[in-house]
Amino acid sequence: MTFRYLLLLTALLLPVGATASELLLSLRGDPAPGALLVGQTRPGAAVMLDKQQLRLTESGHFTFGFGRDDTGPARLYISEGSDSETYEITLAHREWDIQRVDGLPQRTVTPSADALARINAEAAQVRQARDTDSTLYGFTEPFIWPVTGRITGVFGSQRILNGEPRRPHYGVDIAAPTGTDIVAPASGVITLAHEDMFYSGGTLLIDHGLGVSSTYLHLSEILVSEGDTVSQGDLIARVGATGRATGPHLCWRVNWYQERLDPTTLVGEMPR
Ligand SMILES: [Zn+2]
Repeated sequence: MTFRYLLLLTALLLPVGATASELLLSLRGDPAPGALLVGQTRPGAAVMLDKQQLRLTESGHFTFGFGRDDTGPARLYISEGSDSETYEITLAHREWDIQRVDGLPQRTVTPSADALARINAEAAQVRQARDTDSTLYGFTEPFIWPVTGRITGVFGSQRILNGEPRRPHYGVDIAAPTGTDIVAPASGVITLAHEDMFYSGGTLLIDHGLGVSSTYLHLSEILVSEGDTVSQGDLIARVGATGRATGPHLCWRVNWYQERLDPTTLVGEMPR
């Protein structure tokens, strides 16, 4: 979806500046909480999202995401020499589900002090991997589903675990039998491959460039190593039920640095 399409049909992007220098060559993605947007400007231009300077690839690509609780609007400012353009980005409204999960082992809902130390150390490893700041191009590829199956959990839902309110769910859960192949949804480099994390069991993380990463949880098998380069469609892991899971499924997550995004905003309809 191009910027012009959005402007003409939905008026979600309103040019505020005066010059029509066409610095914004394209902008893909529907602005909404949880969405990742990918744009392109002229190489050498500078791009600001509100007060944050965005990094560009050599081809002029840039990207940014909106968190679950972002309400917008956001302001995109692009400049090159004396040319500049400003766009106001209005976010669509989204509603969130409530998801009750019962029958989890109570030690995983209210962890012990020992478990908490382990959980915090593992969370720091994941945070560090998501801080990776490369200029890989994977984020510019239209993503594909890493696995297909019935969707059993959606992004943003408020979770009530064994009757206790907990953090929202930040991934999309896809049910599939243990051992089902998982493929890379876009190219990138493996930045974390961990056999057994407390919550997420077998856990894998791919860096797709400019802070965009994808994470794979509850894996039964990991088929790549940290530092490996993968292309879209490459076999990377197999579905499992390791860590805190009630049955075999893939929990797929996407981040822009530490901002948690909705993976389904990057892919089309689930293929059948
Ligand atoms: Zn999940």
